[in-house]
Amino acid sequence: MSDIVPPPSNLFYQSRNRRPRLDRAEGVYMWDETGKRYLDGSSGAMVSNIGHSNPRVLAAMRAQMDRSTFGYRLHFENEPAEELARLVASLMPAGLDRVFFVSGGSEAVESAVKLARQWAVATGQASRWKVIARYPSYHGSTFGALALTGMALMTAPFSPMLREMPRIPAPTCYLDRDSLSMEERGLRYAGMLREEILRQGPETVLGFIMEPVGGASTGALVAPDSYYARIREICDEFGVLLIYDEVMSGAGRTGTFLAAEHWGIRPDIVALSKGFGAGYMPLGAMVADRRLVEPVLDAGGFVHGFTYAGNPLACAAGLAVIREVLDNDLMGNAARIGALLKSELTGLMARYPFIGDVRGKGLLLAFELVADRETMTPLPKAHDAYVRLVEHAYERGLIIYSRRTRGGREGDHFLVCPPMIATQAHVGEIMEKLVASLDALAAELDLPRGN
Ligand code: PMP
Repeated sequence: MSDIVPPPSNLFYQSRNRRPRLDRAEGVYMWDETGKRYLDGSSGAMVSNIGHSNPRVLAAMRAQMDRSTFGYRLHFENEPAEELARLVASLMPAGLDRVFFVSGGSEAVESAVKLARQWAVATGQASRWKVIARYPSYHGSTFGALALTGMALMTAPFSPMLREMPRIPAPTCYLDRDSLSMEERGLRYAGMLREEILRQGPETVLGFIMEPVGGASTGALVAPDSYYARIREICDEFGVLLIYDEVMSGAGRTGTFLAAEHWGIRPDIVALSKGFGAGYMPLGAMVADRRLVEPVLDAGGFVHGFTYAGNPLACAAGLAVIREVLDNDLMGNAARIGALLKSELTGLMARYPFIGDVRGKGLLLAFELVADRETMTPLPKAHDAYVRLVEHAYERGLIIYSRRTRGGREGDHFLVCPPMIATQAHVGEIMEKLVASLDALAAELDLPRGN
């Protein structure tokens, strides 16, 4: 395809690699302009939670378009934004009911950090400004979010311009080869937060940000249960705010509205996006504890905001998306179909010794490829497995999402995260195409295969 002259907007596509041009999409399927059909096995980048072209969402958007598409938030309040804020608040842990709309995940994360800082200033704790993050992690690509993101590939070119925040290792317990139980390892990793707070000086630490179920950086990493509760305790001990980046894990994908619910954790601030707008409109939200918001408002207001924030069209789309999730029990479906898909993926480990781990919750699932399962030694980088397998799947009409983790330790992981409307038949189709793709990869890279 190298003979095609790149369009002027080529930089938008990140590199010179070309992709087929999208024609249309419906449900879990997408078609390119040649008529080839793809099963959207990663919901784009874990975005299209309710599938494509949902009639109810499209109708809600059309109806809103006939009324108004934009009203600047400092001039007008609007009904879809108010209703959506009420609905989101009703789905949050009690007290977490102040909703600030944005247009994406990076904006949601930036908003969380800026609210936290203004809360500290407003409450006489101006010495607090450091937000500890994890390594690896992904929190967005704007400078503020990048200061937290633990991915050398993303941050390295900008390091002289960034005020990078302290980072502790993400709880990659599945890689550890010690005599501890998983729960003990969870406590060990959580303890690293306590050590880091003490090292930094507790009076300087504002918050800790984490993806409760990892996404692009760690491939659906789930920590042992002990980790979540202990992190909350440590934050409380030092008055450090706990920020959950649920941009990928939120809005129902893991089987509950927030992934936090799996562990009964009440974060102080939550960042949402991706499945929240579900690909219909750019939409995100920062949801905060009213205890943080009130002092900021008393001190003169939140000094922050984006022009497109809370626009009626995006909020009408988001409202219809969340209603669709609730009315059709798509979170229940994500839990059920996710369990089926996870067990099918786990089943592949017998046939492919180079699958080292299968992990995740609900329909936020991933598998990792390795050279040796016992030692979890990664495949050689030169294999480019994270690119090759995706290409094999693409040829067969299956879209999956992959990364080579470059924080802590290198490793190829693949997210398999179809929309939450996926059925048992779709799981069958995903598995059939994935098996054929893994066979092709094994043949290409001369990887061992079982029966
Ligand atoms: N946080 C997390 C956990 C994400 O997965 C992403 C996107 N991959 C972001 C933040 C940034 O979102 P956006 O690309 O919409 O700015």
